Amino acid sequence: MSSINKVVVLGMGVLGSQIAFQSAFKGKEVTSYDISDEAVAAGRERFEVLAKRYAADLPGVGDPQAALTAITATSDLAEAVRGADLVIEAVPEKIEIKQETYRKLAEVADPGTIFATNSSTLLPSDIAPATGRADKFLALHFANEIWLRNTAEVMPGPDTDPAYLTELAEFAEEIGMVPIVLTKEKAGYVLNSLLVPFLDAAGELWAGGYADVETIDKTWRLATGAPVGPFQIYDVVGLTTAYNIASTNPDPGHQAFAAKIKADFIDQGKLGIATGEGFYKY
Ligand code: NAD
Repeated sequence: MSSINKVVVLGMGVLGSQIAFQSAFKGKEVTSYDISDEAVAAGRERFEVLAKRYAADLPGVGDPQAALTAITATSDLAEAVRGADLVIEAVPEKIEIKQETYRKLAEVADPGTIFATNSSTLLPSDIAPATGRADKFLALHFANEIWLRNTAEVMPGPDTDPAYLTELAEFAEEIGMVPIVLTKEKAGYVLNSLLVPFLDAAGELWAGGYADVETIDKTWRLATGAPVGPFQIYDVVGLTTAYNIASTNPDPGHQAFAAKIKADFIDQGKLGIATGEGFYKY
């Protein structure tokens, strides 16, 4: 069992709200923090939506309403982190915002508190100097829709004390996750190290005119036994995210893919499952 009971989540956006809600749903004492009272109010609305999603997706499991009322939320960082065993940071994916957040956090947190980042693309070593406690700092990376896709990638930086890897893996299990432990830092963790090149290759096949979406997906499903193909995954991830990733890569194959998803889908409001249509209709 981990020694983590009081959990503080920084950021009440898409992922921060889910991490806080899931931790409360599994019985942890949770405080959420965001930068302003308006952001906290928006975060509380996210919790309301999550309570409904949990009730619908996990019928008869746990008590989403109890989780909703148990979470404390504040825009006062010092008050939020007092007595915390673990702070999980889920603020925007910008290095300056992360560093500024950790600098402020380091001033007010107890010396024994563990810090974990949910960053998707930054490495612990990019952020560690701002934390003032590189030995107690590591990554804990969740997937969107945490209650359904329950992986938690636990990844150390070069200076992380390995004891905290074990501690966070235990914590992850206690909140219903399957811990995926890396032994050293790697951009993309395990999942995206596999998934991103796979999705890129599918995008190039399609944008290069080699095969259509249905053929590519069917090939993958039949040949590997996977339940879904790459374009079905793109529809779940969302085409805006796919475009943002592809358009920042100068490689001509990525540029062609970005241009084609923009023209064929995004400009027509077809963004994937979330809008009812992407590569497929839902
Ligand atoms: P988001 O934009 O939905 O939420 C970010 C939250 O941080 C907002 O509520 C914002 O008000 C708050 N915030 C706190 N301090 C801030 C500051 N100084 N300036 C501006 N905003 C501040 O973002 P998100 O999608 O929840 O992503 C948060 C982190 O989680 C990122 O590191 C991202 O890489 C990671 N992540 C996201 C996903 C995903 O699918 N969205 C999945 C895995 C990991």
